[in-house]
Amino acid sequence: MATQALRQEARADLQTKLLIGGQWVDSLSGETIEVHNPYDGSVICAIASAGEADVDRAVEAAQAAFPAWSSLAASERGRLLLKLADRIEEESEAFARLEALDTGHPIQDCRRLDVPRTVLCYRYFGGMADKLEGSVVPVDAGFLNYVEREPIGVVGAIAPWNFPLMFTSWKLAPALAAGNTVVFKPSELTPLSTLRIGELMMEVGFPAGVINIVPGYGATAGQRIADHPGIGKVSFTGSTAIGRRIVQSSAGNLKKVQLELGGKGPNIVFPDANLAAAVGGAAFGIFHNQGQACIAGSRILLHESIADEFLDRFSTLARSIRLGDPLDPATEMGPLTSRLHQERVLSFVDIARGEGGQVVSGGAAPGVAGLEDGYFVQPTIVRAEPSHRVAREEVFGPFATILTFRDDAEALAIANDTEYGLGAGLWTNDLTRAHRFAKGIHAGMIWINCYKRVHPGSPFGGFGASGYGREMGFEVMREYTQPKSVWINVDAQIPPFYAR
Ligand code: NAD
Repeated sequence: MATQALRQEARADLQTKLLIGGQWVDSLSGETIEVHNPYDGSVICAIASAGEADVDRAVEAAQAAFPAWSSLAASERGRLLLKLADRIEEESEAFARLEALDTGHPIQDCRRLDVPRTVLCYRYFGGMADKLEGSVVPVDAGFLNYVEREPIGVVGAIAPWNFPLMFTSWKLAPALAAGNTVVFKPSELTPLSTLRIGELMMEVGFPAGVINIVPGYGATAGQRIADHPGIGKVSFTGSTAIGRRIVQSSAGNLKKVQLELGGKGPNIVFPDANLAAAVGGAAFGIFHNQGQACIAGSRILLHESIADEFLDRFSTLARSIRLGDPLDPATEMGPLTSRLHQERVLSFVDIARGEGGQVVSGGAAPGVAGLEDGYFVQPTIVRAEPSHRVAREEVFGPFATILTFRDDAEALAIANDTEYGLGAGLWTNDLTRAHRFAKGIHAGMIWINCYKRVHPGSPFGGFGASGYGREMGFEVMREYTQPKSVWINVDAQIPPFYAR
């Protein structure tokens, strides 16, 4: 089908309202937000913009739904998540088109990664719902102590724009499996797939109020979630700057906070690496999704003995990446998600040059007929020094910063010379070195001879300015529950204190 027809089809019947208490409603203010197609800047639709009062309504609905939802058999909660996974799978192609339209992700990536990973996540936590066991603790003689994990109550979830479909599943699936109800705020830039998920959740039978979706601006809807006294926990994915504000706003009712923030991932290529694999892996690490990934391998550290050969191959590969219409199956790189972000990424090219960095490849909008209206940036490779801003700040675009090292000690020092600590990659066939670096790198996730692998079973999250708490794995079930310790005196012979 021609991309124009795909675009029409992806736009058909879009949900544009807020989901509150099982009803699709306009915002109380009547205000809306225009959603743009990053490929050509056109307006896709206008969605209701949730304000503070809408968040309040959503929290009330979530509070009302909590007692019944949290006391439902866990297997029933799981069953609904499994049904949702099946429905998404049935609509895989429609979701791939919608995500490509809204975000600019190439449809081939949506088909291969975003949609299947989303299905897998709902399925994994659907299966997890009734496997969240407590424990019995060996305590003093005569006493039984057991520990249960209880849901927290209303969870507020705030998501960024870079992987909206997938991140909705990362937050909703475990939070709901654990028995919480949710008020979810997608990014105002890319709300469409989340709204469609809301429709499917209603269709498969999630009770009213269990999931509420309130797209809106961060400063209003997001801020209200962060400081709402009726919300017991906030799960936030976004920038480190906003993460810090969330922590401050959460202080009012001391809500639990989970933060998935920025990164500046080192991807280290040692002299013994399989160079072809490292070149491909490094390209995936920084160019997939136009580099708009918190775990992007944005600092590529090359041993000086292989730097020239690596750069030669890497820049050849970068120049061959096909930029184009996200809905065209041949497209390998789409536009960035917003005009503002495109301008920000390009500003780092000037910053790099100003500090003495050398642009090896790319460094501009493509200037290709047909792409002028889109928010494109060429795959960009810049040689820099560890002290340069482009080696320290998150660019969040298709922008690889190349650094070189002489020996392992220097590689480790450069890798850890960052406030962030999210993901890191190593390309080596030396087992001892691989383990030494896996231990030595200050980051929550390490990939050896691969990059950016994620799975719902494996904890995802970072150290330092990359945040705290974890998505996924069994870890995340701890995040969405709180332990309750119950003591029973099982020995009638034990006298109470102050016995008379
Ligand atoms: P952002 O921090 O600007 O926005 C994230 C979300 O927070 C959006 O929904 C936004 O509306 C909301 N928000 C903005 N201001 C707010 C406020 N004052 N109170 C409450 N909510 C507010 O981030 P972004 O530009 O959407 O996303 C890019 C950033 O996200 C990058 O820094 C990236 O590294 C990070 N990110 C991290 C992870 C991770 O898992 N560690 C994953 C993806 C993206």
